[in-house]
Amino acid sequence: MNKRDHVINAVLLSVGISVLLSPPDAVDALVIFLTIAPPVILGALLPDLDTVFGVHRKTFHNVWVLGFIMLFPLVFGNLYYVWIGVLTHFTLDLLGNRYGMGLLYPLPGFYDIPVGVNVDSRLAGLVTLLVTAVELVFVYLIVAAGLEAHLAAPELVVFFRALLGPIIGV
Ligand SMILES: [Zn+2]
Repeated sequence: MNKRDHVINAVLLSVGISVLLSPPDAVDALVIFLTIAPPVILGALLPDLDTVFGVHRKTFHNVWVLGFIMLFPLVFGNLYYVWIGVLTHFTLDLLGNRYGMGLLYPLPGFYDIPVGVNVDSRLAGLVTLLVTAVELVFVYLIVAAGLEAHLAAPELVVFFRALLGPIIGV
């Protein structure tokens, strides 16, 4: 997808998450949105830095970058929520271009989902909205299951500490 679609997706996803977290009033909803939206938008734009640095759809479009961004808060205590933007960028790119991504780069191989549209398709905006809707269904299910704390990075850090702590000694 192009940058406009990535930003629209990230903003709508942030609005949806803010609402689905059921804040007690509009002010709290706005605070949650202002907390979540900037890092999600930055994360949604981050992978396409490889249009300038590296090889496009390879250097910053792989699972190692996603893992690094997910683990970053564990070590440095910031960049919370950025992983949501990176993950949704990958999802949109898999459905929004016909070239696929080097998901395991620098290992060889280009991976794609056999459905979707090309980036310049008239349907790209519609696909972006549909992907956002499906993502918000997942967020709804997470909230309905009482696991909404895992959407927030501090709890994600707790999760990774429990998972990796014995291995990496944190
Ligand atoms: Zn991309």
